[in-house]
Amino acid sequence: MLILGLETSCDETGVALYDTDRGLLAHALFSQIDIHVEYGGVVPELASRDHVRKTLPLIEEVMTEAGVSPADIDGIAYTAGPGLVGALMVGATLARSLAWGWGVPVLGVHHMEGHLLAPMLEEEHPEFPFVALLVSGGHTQLVRVDGIGQYKLLGESLDDAAGEAFDKAAKMLGLPYPGGPHIARLAEKGNPERFHFPRPMVNRPGLDFSFSGLKTYTLNTVEDCRVDGEVSQQDKADIARAFEDAVVGTLVIKCRRALQQEGLKTLVMAGGVSANSNLRAELKMALAKEQAQVFYPAPVFCTDNGAMIAYAGAQRLKAGQVDTEDTRVRPRWPMEELPPVAGAA
Ligand code: ATP
Ligand code: MG
Ligand code: FE
Repeated sequence: MLILGLETSCDETGVALYDTDRGLLAHALFSQIDIHVEYGGVVPELASRDHVRKTLPLIEEVMTEAGVSPADIDGIAYTAGPGLVGALMVGATLARSLAWGWGVPVLGVHHMEGHLLAPMLEEEHPEFPFVALLVSGGHTQLVRVDGIGQYKLLGESLDDAAGEAFDKAAKMLGLPYPGGPHIARLAEKGNPERFHFPRPMVNRPGLDFSFSGLKTYTLNTVEDCRVDGEVSQQDKADIARAFEDAVVGTLVIKCRRALQQEGLKTLVMAGGVSANSNLRAELKMALAKEQAQVFYPAPVFCTDNGAMIAYAGAQRLKAGQVDTEDTRVRPRWPMEELPPVAGAA
């Protein structure tokens, strides 16, 4: 079954073709970063307008690359939420129009389920059940996964998401949006011994997170380092390092705790922050000590992309799930509300 996947929930237009027998055939991505960078964050109206411009050309691009014609396509999947409502509506409208024109089924997919299943695109992929750490720009969640659509939320951030904390800390250090990769690069030159930032909520039981205190701590440290209005490059690198170590340390502690609580040995990490190489290395090391294994997507499939939507959509379309007339995009959409896919456990 050949599925066209469209991702337009935020500031990336992602398009991909996934075949349930042959795997990923082609994928293309356009990032709107240059459009939003001067505003220091995503401007929703500009995001929607650019998805209108980019989605159809990207669809043509992947179809040409894969040598696929409309008659070959068996279904279309698009991101129906959560995300920016205008941006979601662009993808939904295009997906449904094409599906109607081509006479194929169409299905709205949950963006975070897309992230969660992205590691399944890899040659070496995890088996159910597992614990998933979803760490992105808008979410920080630990989820028990017993199969596709069988999700139990174990814990989540009570305030900022991890990616959001990276983006805000980057702004304090004068780094561009999105800040995660810039902090990571700067942190490599930082001295890990200079500052020790708090690991929020690790001394309390439970699996929830909080990153807003870390943000304040970062801001205060930046201010303490300011001399004649300036913060030196080395100070910035040392702060970036301490910040990254604190986020990574917190995530590692909570992941181990979640695996212990659930009695599982497999952890899956996905979402933009899972591209962080320190986080990947530290988790791998910490889990190896307990004979547990961690799986993550290839770096290109950690942040938003069409491949994860095509994959998640393919699993559900294959099981006969389709949109109904009253399907709407859902800017907010708890993942636990998703229906299970029979046989996918
Ligand atoms: P959501 O998926 O929750 O709706 P989103 O789609 O905006 O949010 P993603 O595209 O999955 O989020 O991830 C973007 C986030 O990942 C940004 O906050 C960015 O700073 C962060 N990020 C990307 N690369 C890295 C990295 N190497 N280290 C840390 N953070 C990173
Ligand atoms: Mg993004
Ligand atoms: Fe995302």
